[in-house]
Amino acid sequence: MQAIDINKITVDEIVLPVLQQQGISLSILRLDKIHPIITGNKWFKLRLYLEEVEKQNKETILTFGGAWSNHIVASAAVAQLYGYNSIGIIRGEEPTIYSATLNEAKKRGMQLHFISRENYKVKKVPNEIELSGVYIIPEGGYGNIGAAGAATILDNFDKKKYTHFCCAAGTGTMAAGVLGAINHTQQLIVYSVLKGHNQLKGEIEKLTSTVGNNIVIENDFHFGGYAKKNTELLDFMNDFYKKTTVPSDFVYTGKFFYGLMEYIKRGYFQKGSKILAIHSGGLQGNQSLDKGSLIF
Ligand SMILES: *Cc1c(COP(=O)(O)O)cnc(C)c1O
Repeated sequence: MQAIDINKITVDEIVLPVLQQQGISLSILRLDKIHPIITGNKWFKLRLYLEEVEKQNKETILTFGGAWSNHIVASAAVAQLYGYNSIGIIRGEEPTIYSATLNEAKKRGMQLHFISRENYKVKKVPNEIELSGVYIIPEGGYGNIGAAGAATILDNFDKKKYTHFCCAAGTGTMAAGVLGAINHTQQLIVYSVLKGHNQLKGEIEKLTSTVGNNIVIENDFHFGGYAKKNTELLDFMNDFYKKTTVPSDFVYTGKFFYGLMEYIKRGYFQKGSKILAIHSGGLQGNQSLDKGSLIF
């Protein structure tokens, strides 16, 4: 299988009239390029968990997710790449037709177990799974180890020159890592993709010791909730691609770029601001869209 290649990451300078009008710059950190399946932030969130698995001499990783979870498919592929077994505990009944994500995870050797939504809420591992030799990675990689891995997203280039860092958030693990890696004069703006996720700030704060007042959480661009979409969102993603050649996914980065462009249009950023937007990957999720919805 193809290796993960962080040398493929680029920082794309975006050229748009609105940026010029506002006197600001926008660059996109293309984490989506490192691997077709283990994309974006998922590798960074998983990497230090893998070191733990090795240290503790475990041979299997077990983790949790939904039928379209980027984390599930990335975990399956990472396990295959590093020679571990993998078990995925999937929310809800086993579907008669598997999603592209589940098919890919299965192809990568992941053993899938479907559990009820009630059991999923409490992350109940089915009794038939023997847990000796198993390392459990929390859903979405949430935890200090995940955040410490995510902090290394900003290791490979000059982060000092930016005034603002922006990213999408599900669990907030990536945001916590990024927050820990920037200084207090730089601002982090986090665009939540979940509806009414009022605990997000608290969840991020739990994972970082450096919480100041340089984090802003934006909750208004969820488009109806997690993985919900409408034509306005898909039209935006197509338009954004046409103007910037940057593809996005409808679950995370499409909503994030939409929200960020709204902030820019509204004049949120002062003249002279230098924004780094983190493209956290997730493009595989677009396979659940109707054919022809997207031009990329
Ligand atoms: C998983 C994922 C996120 C969310 O990351 P968290 O650390 O859970 O906040 C953002 N973008 C993409 C593309 C993802 O796959």
